Amino acid sequence: RKLCCISLLNYFQSLLNSLSSRSDILDKAARRKLLTGTEACIFESLRLDPSVPFNSGPPPGPTFQNAISFGEYTVPAGANVFIAAFGIHRDPKYFPDPEKFDPDRFLPENSINRHSHCYIPFAAGPRNCVGQKFAMFEIKATLCQLLRTFKFMKSWKEEEFKFIMDCALLQRSSSAESDNEVPKDTDSDDGILRKITNSKEKAQDLKLKELPLVHQAKKKPENGCSSNALEGDTESWMIGGPLGSRSAVLKFRCSALSDPPSEPPANELHMTYKIIQAETKLLAAVLNSHGMEREVHPNIPDFNLLWTGIHPKPHLLKAMTPYQRVNHFPRSYELTRKDRLYKNIEKMQHAKGAKHFDFIPQTFVMPMDFRELCSSHYRNKGPWIVKPVASSRGRGIYIVNSPDQVPLEETLVVAKYIDNPLLVAGHKCDLRLYVAVTSYDPLLVYMYEEGLVRFATVKYDSSGKHLWNPCMHLCNYSINKYHSDYVRSDDPEAEDVGHKWTLSALLRHLRAQGTDTSLLMQRIEEVVVKAVLATAPPIISACRMFVPYPRNCFELYGFDILIDSTLKPWLLEVNLSPSLGCDSPLDIRIKSAMLVDLLTLVAMLSLPPAIHPACHPSLNCLNRHYTDSSNVSGERGGHTPALITLSSNTSLIFLRGLKFSHKIVDCRSGTDSEMRTRRERCLTETVVHESKIYMKENRMIRTVRSEFERKGGFLRIFPSAESWKRYGIFLDPVTGITCTSAAPGGQSCVPPMVVPHNYNLLLHQQLFPELQSSRKTIESSTPTDHLTRYERALLQGHKASLEERQLDKSDSIKFLFSAYIKNKIEVFKSPRQNKHMSQYQARRTFAQYLICILRRISGQNKTDPIIEDHSELILRFLQKASSNLRTPYFVQIPSRKLAGKDRVAVVAKQLNDFIYLYNRETDLYSEGGDTTQPRT
Ligand code: ADP
Repeated sequence: RKLCCISLLNYFQSLLNSLSSRSDILDKAARRKLLTGTEACIFESLRLDPSVPFNSGPPPGPTFQNAISFGEYTVPAGANVFIAAFGIHRDPKYFPDPEKFDPDRFLPENSINRHSHCYIPFAAGPRNCVGQKFAMFEIKATLCQLLRTFKFMKSWKEEEFKFIMDCALLQRSSSAESDNEVPKDTDSDDGILRKITNSKEKAQDLKLKELPLVHQAKKKPENGCSSNALEGDTESWMIGGPLGSRSAVLKFRCSALSDPPSEPPANELHMTYKIIQAETKLLAAVLNSHGMEREVHPNIPDFNLLWTGIHPKPHLLKAMTPYQRVNHFPRSYELTRKDRLYKNIEKMQHAKGAKHFDFIPQTFVMPMDFRELCSSHYRNKGPWIVKPVASSRGRGIYIVNSPDQVPLEETLVVAKYIDNPLLVAGHKCDLRLYVAVTSYDPLLVYMYEEGLVRFATVKYDSSGKHLWNPCMHLCNYSINKYHSDYVRSDDPEAEDVGHKWTLSALLRHLRAQGTDTSLLMQRIEEVVVKAVLATAPPIISACRMFVPYPRNCFELYGFDILIDSTLKPWLLEVNLSPSLGCDSPLDIRIKSAMLVDLLTLVAMLSLPPAIHPACHPSLNCLNRHYTDSSNVSGERGGHTPALITLSSNTSLIFLRGLKFSHKIVDCRSGTDSEMRTRRERCLTETVVHESKIYMKENRMIRTVRSEFERKGGFLRIFPSAESWKRYGIFLDPVTGITCTSAAPGGQSCVPPMVVPHNYNLLLHQQLFPELQSSRKTIESSTPTDHLTRYERALLQGHKASLEERQLDKSDSIKFLFSAYIKNKIEVFKSPRQNKHMSQYQARRTFAQYLICILRRISGQNKTDPIIEDHSELILRFLQKASSNLRTPYFVQIPSRKLAGKDRVAVVAKQLNDFIYLYNRETDLYSEGGDTTQPRT
């Protein structure tokens, strides 16, 4: 087959080369030569390698309807026919020198008087339904695409190719198969072909409806032993099988933090994790309590989980084995950088209509878009919020009234300030939602049922007079914690106390006030899915280039959402590594519950880290790429897919690539509404009886289903029952990937080198088959089960501190001071002992001193008048020191009219910003090898 393809493409390319210039192509004779030559070489290729080389079998395979006599033989009615197109095409009577690839035999002049049945490239009999013209059309279209994209060379010898007969076993569908027979083996490709059913998933969702608003507490065992003692056997810490089975994954539980299992499976297998530049306390506590060990050696590539605070390097991704997991997708900065996020969404606004993507405040990137900012300001006055491009925690953010106040020296984003926020008891708030993406193609997006609500400390004033007050306009905890009025709750169960609430508490509060929380959550889910869709294409391309196995990457995003007074959610930004820092007992509870569910969701295979697929070949088939582009993983060559048959009422045909594109060609002409109707028809037409899907797709569907069963507190928001109707219009009909072109039906977004497939459509059809046949209208609200989950109070989560002895505030200041004093002594001792203190060390010490000061002014005695005097001193220091920073930093002098505590909070926030920038520059010193240079 390869040989034929290559011969075909070679021939075709030489034909093209023989037409020496572009003018030749316009020449009539040359064009005819090309066209007849193309057909001839396709015919010849199909002669040597017919698409159905042998055809036989019981009905609907070819059979004799009536008895037929051949001379003295009579073939009875009902006898099977075995048609061997492969052999017929090699009959030397019609095709002399039959093994030779010679397209000229099909030139019109050489085809006269050839028997009509000596060439049957598209099979024969009642199954010959596709139509030869259509098939030829598709082949030509594919060829054009390939030849435009690639150069083909023959690198194999013909003798190296052997013809092998292969056989596909079809399992008859049987209604007797029960749901229980869905293999637990999540990823395995073990040949036990099962009916795919979604009823398990449905049952799970149905159960949710019965759940009360508040989780039932787990019953304590009567004999008084701890729950973990009962869970002591390894299997309760595993899902998908016992320790050692290849599909078993670790089950993470919050209870392990207070009561670790005695013999956790991860410990037995010496499973390891690595952390690079990330907050580690909670994560390390969870992983350690489940028996995973931290691998600290930078050069050892054996780990089960890599958790990084930065984007992983391509070489690191490429070297991953099937069982390894990393917490980022390549190029996910397309979603998490403020400038890239806006540009990607803006592209979708142009392509699909602004009304579909109007959930992000209008944003400009400075200094490039300064003119646009001015003209927009002229039409629609400020205020504007100025933010560094890639920063977080409110650092460097301030609000201005006019573009003149925006500095043009550095790259910044300037966004329209949403000045009508939803207020709770007069305070502005925003939401931090946790969103997990486990795959981009097919797209799998989950939102955690619980989130955090952050309040600004100072009551909101809509007059615009207090724009400089960050504690009124910004909701970041890192800013508001410096205000003396900030209330921190010490009770992990208190969900609506102080300036940090849970999402469920806010929803219950809003519902009590008569707000339609269901509509609100539906809108929020839509914002999340659309933002992910808008940024997906570049991430998918990067995954295809760098990620060898489909389950290597996952990502936890922190979505910051602001709700305005009309209940419209606005996407402020998406955080790459949402903070897992636990500043309050509520943080510990919510984040620990979310983290254990995330680790279970992403499937940490219970395997020792030193296993490599080379010495464990079964791993390769465990987790191979769903796509045919799996060449990246070293899996080369075309495949002969085994086929499975699904039960007739749930089965669907998976239309691979170009078969489906035929329908799309139809769909592309016509108005939007026509197109939508046609698209829906395409969708329903695909429901056919007795259909087949490929093994790889089958494996993918099983993986998605088993992931759904492990979702814990995560709610899958894509795909969902409504997702195709809601978001289908944004997807390329051939590939299922977001389409960023404006053309109806869209320009295909198929990245080069990728055989088109439509996994999103396939999944939708498989997971929600009942929706294909009936045209249900989209329900106007989030399904009730989702709302129930968002509104109910979360009972899980670790409720104690993460440390044996929690330092109280004064302890922590003492601790910081002692570290500072120790370093300071070193600074003074060094010159006396003739030791050089590097600039790096000196700067670190100075930063520690500044942190002590920051803690002091934001400590408990913030109302102390001395603190106010100190803050004036600090302000003067900041004004001088900021001019020495490499990154420009503009210190804002708080108004004299401000209350003392507000002034202190503004100064503390700016000191915090300064320390951040100062430390960032200090890191450059160490990297620049300046560590030995003495401080002058
Ligand atoms: P960071 O990544 O530094 O936290 P954000 O974009 O999340 O930056 O903004 C910080 C805070 O500023 C948010 O908590 C929100 O309250 C406020 N904010 C940001 N953008 C806007 C906006 N366009 N309109 C109103 N408030 C905003």
